Amino acid sequence: MKKQLEWKISEYSPDSEPFYMEVNGEIRLAEEAYAEKIPVMLKGPTGCGKSRFVQYMAYRFNQKNGRRTPLVTVNCHEDLTADDLKGRYLLSGKFEDGPALVAVKKGGLLYLDEVVEARQDTIVVIHPLGDDRRIMTVERLGKVFEAPDTFSLWVSYNPGYQKKTKDLKQSTKQRFVAINFSYPSKDIETQIIMKEAGIEQSTAQALTQIGAKIRNAKGKGLEEGASTRLLINAGKFIRKGISPLVACEAAILNPITDDVEAYRSVHDGLADVVRSFFPE
Ligand code: ADP
Repeated sequence: MKKQLEWKISEYSPDSEPFYMEVNGEIRLAEEAYAEKIPVMLKGPTGCGKSRFVQYMAYRFNQKNGRRTPLVTVNCHEDLTADDLKGRYLLSGKFEDGPALVAVKKGGLLYLDEVVEARQDTIVVIHPLGDDRRIMTVERLGKVFEAPDTFSLWVSYNPGYQKKTKDLKQSTKQRFVAINFSYPSKDIETQIIMKEAGIEQSTAQALTQIGAKIRNAKGKGLEEGASTRLLINAGKFIRKGISPLVACEAAILNPITDDVEAYRSVHDGLADVVRSFFPE
């Protein structure tokens, strides 16, 4: 059968269990929050598994409920408006539901990724969904939509990137339980890299060590450490036969810095570390 490549927002949800390795008790917390209808906030650096966790939990909730409800992801940005979330009338006169309204109507999981990028006046739209009212008012339709029991609200952001001007209001923050994400322990990260990059344990272990060294350079020239995602990418290159140093440069170091000085200072150390793990 031909693989489905296009989904309506109202239909998309993972159809098989996404691979997710628990890092620090987050599955239980998310399950209890869901049972208690408390919205969930995921905080942590990029590439450390927040989106994968949301996919995994969306799958689990559907399994538990015996229903396929959508996972609706909104990538927030500063031009996002309340109407983008709720919906608007098209020129044809038909009302088109926005993603938040779709998630509410279908009882799915609404995930606002990088939520601090959206303007605060846009984000207040989710306030009535994020407390015990669990409603969304769509003024243009003159209607109030009550979220079904299966609906849940999730947001994520990276507190490390935000300037003082970009933050959530306390009235937004204090609607959520917050789960802090960080880089996984070496053992867990090794297993994630093995599985996702399709490489053997010793190579994944080496990449984990290389990642740890680069993370130590954060603040000493590097704005951000190497995420698990980058280590996986390096692993994929190595699996394809690209030399480990070139793979680590292209997949790990080049993406994280544009600063020539920082690049040089970290590069020499990186080259030494890569050679120590992958002797030629
Ligand atoms: P974020 O949303 O935090 O930016 P992602 O969820 O996109 O990060 O994670 C990046 C990649 O790292 C994922 O696609 C997945 O391959 C891998 N990954 C990170 N953490 C985990 C984990 N705990 N279990 C399984 N895969 C993970």
